[in-house]
Amino acid sequence: MDTDARLLLHPSEYPSPFSSKVIDVQDSWIRLQSTEFYPTGGGQPHDTGIITYDGGEVSVIDVKGRNEVLHQVEGTPPPIGTVVQGVIDVERRSALARMHTAQHLASALAHEHWGGVTVGNQIGIESTRIDLQFENRDLFSPEELIEFMNDEIKSNHEVTMDNRSLDDLKSDSRVRIDLNRIPNVSSLRVIDIDTIDVCPCAGTHVESTGVIPRVVLDRVKSKGAGKLRVSYRFE
Ligand SMILES: [Zn+2]
Repeated sequence: MDTDARLLLHPSEYPSPFSSKVIDVQDSWIRLQSTEFYPTGGGQPHDTGIITYDGGEVSVIDVKGRNEVLHQVEGTPPPIGTVVQGVIDVERRSALARMHTAQHLASALAHEHWGGVTVGNQIGIESTRIDLQFENRDLFSPEELIEFMNDEIKSNHEVTMDNRSLDDLKSDSRVRIDLNRIPNVSSLRVIDIDTIDVCPCAGTHVESTGVIPRVVLDRVKSKGAGKLRVSYRFE
């Protein structure tokens, strides 16, 4: 397992503790041989949790990096070579996985009904926002978007993970994003929500949409010509 092994894990709710080994320590930052802590990226905040080992325990307060994932710990970091156990804060992880999967629904439905293109997003525990670009944003109804999202949440669609090539994705009409922005690597981690959406994504997601709580509109803000920032939260 390399440090990117966490990307192979799906679903992302309730991750189990995992065993690993400290391979590098720089000040308060440690690197593990393998990790399942999610690092900040793709608009999604990092996991938190604890790292335990024989005779000690430290809190993980920040996680960053992609190929080399670094964990910032509070307390004296365990030395290189220490066998450790990583325990992810499942409450925070699950909240983020639910918010993130809801974002896939929002992006797909804004595209389906109004041709809106997601040009940015920030997943949060309290509130999540997406920036949507429209040809004519006056036609867009954020209230209706929220209604459509709740319909699909209630429909309890299965959320699955797959690995597919870029060429394969180009011929799939359920892909909403601009694939020209995706690097042409041999295999992409793809998240599939039933008939609704297919999206290359390295974030964390739920197993089926039914576990997502009902969403409500938080606020709508203009972000310039044709662009709106829509925020939602859980009821
Ligand atoms: Zn995602």
